Amino acid sequence: MGKKESVDVLVVGGGPGGTPAALMLAQAGRRVMLVEAGRGLGGTCLFEGCIPSKIYRETAARRWQMMEHAAFGIDMPRSVPTVDWRKVIERREHILAMRSGAALQRAQKIPTLQIVFGRARFTSPRSAVVETREGVREVAFEKAIIATGSLPNHLPIPGADLPGVLDSTGLVLIDHVPRSLVLIGGGPIGVEMAQIFHMLGTERVAILEYAPRILGPVDAVLAARLTDILRENGIEVVTNARVAAIEREGEVLAVRFRRGEEGAEETLRAQHVGIVAGRRPNVEGLGLENTAVRHDRHGIRVNETLETDEPGIFATGDVTGHPMFAHWATMQAQAVARHLLGLPAAFPNPDHNTAVIFSSPELGMAGLTEEAARERGWKVAVAEYDYRVDARAQISFGGVGLVRLVYREDDGVIVGVHAMVENASELMGEAAAIVRNGLTLQDVALSIHPHPTLTEGFRLAALEAMARRMMKRPAAQSHGEGRTA
Ligand code: FAD
Repeated sequence: MGKKESVDVLVVGGGPGGTPAALMLAQAGRRVMLVEAGRGLGGTCLFEGCIPSKIYRETAARRWQMMEHAAFGIDMPRSVPTVDWRKVIERREHILAMRSGAALQRAQKIPTLQIVFGRARFTSPRSAVVETREGVREVAFEKAIIATGSLPNHLPIPGADLPGVLDSTGLVLIDHVPRSLVLIGGGPIGVEMAQIFHMLGTERVAILEYAPRILGPVDAVLAARLTDILRENGIEVVTNARVAAIEREGEVLAVRFRRGEEGAEETLRAQHVGIVAGRRPNVEGLGLENTAVRHDRHGIRVNETLETDEPGIFATGDVTGHPMFAHWATMQAQAVARHLLGLPAAFPNPDHNTAVIFSSPELGMAGLTEEAARERGWKVAVAEYDYRVDARAQISFGGVGLVRLVYREDDGVIVGVHAMVENASELMGEAAAIVRNGLTLQDVALSIHPHPTLTEGFRLAALEAMARRMMKRPAAQSHGEGRTA
């Protein structure tokens, strides 16, 4: 071990919850050490999560669209398009290298930022050791940010460790398109993976979900519609599934389960089984016992400024528990950095969070669901717009989809925006701005939305709801007309 180094801020973890904080702090002149144990800067999101899964989805969706060519007036040879998985992986590696390389280059230009590839472990509330290939470094710090992310949950199912049973990392790194796949878990990762492999050509795909419905925290109406779409496409969705065991039967894996506690035992067989039942905070080997940082199965305990029980040590991203999204981790990282710089810091508010499930069609949400808003004691109503009547949706993909705006009945403030439609991901920026800024139905209805685009769905849903509200009120109380959009 060499001489003890000293920095202002130690950031542990180079994912979306760590790197943005390190960059912001170093750009402001703080001496920062950013430690990353993996293959580059980018975290789970870049190497095993958001980016590779969306690269696969892009190939999958394009293949699927090609199979619908006739509906768009295109004649093509009848054969079904096949996927060259080797090329997909090459493309993945190219994008990953481009992105991690750019992040590293950007970071290396900042003189007060040291990037150390190695594994950090706290040895006291103000010091840590970093094990690198070159040896062990010892570092003293004034402040630290723990951004070590999360790991896939292991389920105590007999047979869960058999070869061919994969977690989300194994599914993302798979070197072939499986012939058949059973996914245990109907959350965002399970649903995305089910549709990706189905569209890539996996012949049989099934989802086994423990809860009474898939996509628990998502708008219930949209989750039910998506369940119908999954089933219409031939993906088996079993809810209330109680998985008892996974067994090898020659070439395949057999998953034994019951529908509810009382159901008869059933079996689904597949080449691979994916266990995608949530993620747990990654605190292993971090030496937290040498500090006052406390955690439970949900994550590291933090206060409203994301400071842990150890004053001066903060935590951001997945390691602090739900919601577990890259953009959430980044917003937290930047808020902590501003806080440490003594600047006003807007710590992200879960009531304003956005998320996209890259299902087909995509499902986006910002703010509260109808149920969550009612739990606040608010009287809320929902304005809907069905994409069946929408010009853009009809032109591009036959008009499947729905927008749901959750608004407070008394003041018309929109507290939740939910959309299921292809490209919903591109609508969620506006949705986030609506919810974060407490815009009303009128604000949205009077904003000029370009035609023909999917964003018109927001305006038309709001307009419809305003008309309904006006009908309920005496004319003198209605307002909005005459204002310039
Ligand atoms: P991570 O990205 O996990 O980064 C933590 C980093 O810390 C890792 O690089 C790790 O190597 C490093 N580390 C851990 N321990 C140490 C140590 N002791 N010393 C040094 N370094 C350490 N989110 C979205 O917003 N959109 C999506 O589309 C999306 N898709 C996903 C798909 C999949 C299959 C998965 C698994 C996740 C997906 N997510 C998505 C979630 C997203 O990846 C995470 O929310 C995000 O990566 C969290 O960022 P983080 O910085 O907290 O943790």
